[in-house]
Amino acid sequence: MAYYTKNYDLFLSATQSFCHKCGNLKKCIDAHIVTKNNEVFLRKFCPDCGESMVKISTDFNYYKKCEDYLKVPDLPEKALTRVLKGCPFDCGVCPQHQNHPCLALFNITDECNMKCNICYYAAEPGLGNHRSMAQIEQMLETLLKTESEPDLIQVTGGEPTTHPKIIEILQYLKKSPARHLMLNTNGIKIAQDENFVKDLKKLGAGFEVYLQFDSLNPEVLKDLRAKDMVEIRKKSLAMLEKYSISTTLVVVLKKGLNEHEIPEIIAYSRTYKCIRGVVFQPIEEAGRVDTHGDFRITLSEIRQIIIEDERNPFTADDMIPLPCDPHKISVGYAAKTMCKDKKGKPYANIMPVTGQLPKELITNYQGTVTFEKDKSFVKTVIETVSLDTAMGEGILKDKIKQKLFCCWPDFLAPSDMGYENVYRLVISEFSDIVNFDSSNIKRECNFMIEPERIIPFSTYNMGIEFSQTTIQKFWVPSS
Ligand code: SF4
Ligand code: SF4
Repeated sequence: MAYYTKNYDLFLSATQSFCHKCGNLKKCIDAHIVTKNNEVFLRKFCPDCGESMVKISTDFNYYKKCEDYLKVPDLPEKALTRVLKGCPFDCGVCPQHQNHPCLALFNITDECNMKCNICYYAAEPGLGNHRSMAQIEQMLETLLKTESEPDLIQVTGGEPTTHPKIIEILQYLKKSPARHLMLNTNGIKIAQDENFVKDLKKLGAGFEVYLQFDSLNPEVLKDLRAKDMVEIRKKSLAMLEKYSISTTLVVVLKKGLNEHEIPEIIAYSRTYKCIRGVVFQPIEEAGRVDTHGDFRITLSEIRQIIIEDERNPFTADDMIPLPCDPHKISVGYAAKTMCKDKKGKPYANIMPVTGQLPKELITNYQGTVTFEKDKSFVKTVIETVSLDTAMGEGILKDKIKQKLFCCWPDFLAPSDMGYENVYRLVISEFSDIVNFDSSNIKRECNFMIEPERIIPFSTYNMGIEFSQTTIQKFWVPSS
């Protein structure tokens, strides 16, 4: 009698994962990617717990499309660890990794002024441990060893605005070779301290706020954040609008709780000139999150809600796999111009462009090259998008103003338009003990930066014991 039952349709590939039943993070187990009724599953084989099936996509067609979008990887310039025990125990970054750090996360404190139920980092008031400037300088030095011209640094925590030197840190990183700088925040300080916002404004172009924004419903926020944050969020957005500071809303989704708000949040985001788009993140099992319940949501389910929402113009063709990490990130870019709705209130008119670009243009694009340097690519994108769009007339022939993700073509802006005319929807799914797939993890492009290593965000959060220097989540300053 077979030990494992055959309860699937197609076998797609074999990989490695962890068993979420016994929670053993010390060794990987075999897993297969299989389909069943047009959905995709990770079929895990644990010697102790037997077989388990984890749904990783509700849309086999989109899953297949992800493979078509794979591009030649941009690798880190240097590995900082060796291959000793194999992936994912050798983070990082080890020579096996197949993506460079598109997004470098600088964790500057364990302190927080909130205690969210879904905090991946398990931050809370009283933890303290603000990183010193010397540590932050060392983190930058380490990042630059792997990526001499980083695309994006995001300052995070804990709540980074509790760090007494937050402005000094942002000013320091703004002068680094990184092209863009982001502040990941719950918005409390922005809502309450206008002088702080004025200091943020002085950071100038290339700075953006990544604002926690999961819901417009107090009860949902109490569930996720242990607090009704509606007024704080509105006040912080009023401040960011007042000072025209580029802002991305970040929405963590818990199935059955707030995914029905996706259309409403997208519509809400279009009422602010300062908002550049929305990032949706399915909840992951890390830190204080206990997701043993049935509230995991897949990237494909979120994508489906977006493309079925009649209030936004993004179609299935517009929400495409990001070529450097296609199974884990889906993006849709649009041109944005502010106009007025029927009641005379500001409302963004958005025109998706991703669906109009030929796939080859996107997958042939080599990241890390700044857009301005790649003239032929720029020309092709402009010509493509200029063809039949209402805004095509206004699109300048030689100006690309901004870029956010290194792997993604910059948005093309008419001469009198800038980054404020970019709008994007992103779905970004991280890996945890439940959905871990060792082939995907090698493509992760979000890295936590430590003084001597850089570690993929997911393996960092999972609490894996690494082969070279056990990770110290809460550092003790060396001096
Ligand atoms: S996740 Fe990347 S850095 Fe970590 S062990 Fe695997 S390949 Fe190496
Ligand atoms: S999720 Fe952010 S705001 Fe909430 S406790 Fe964690 S660090 Fe603080």
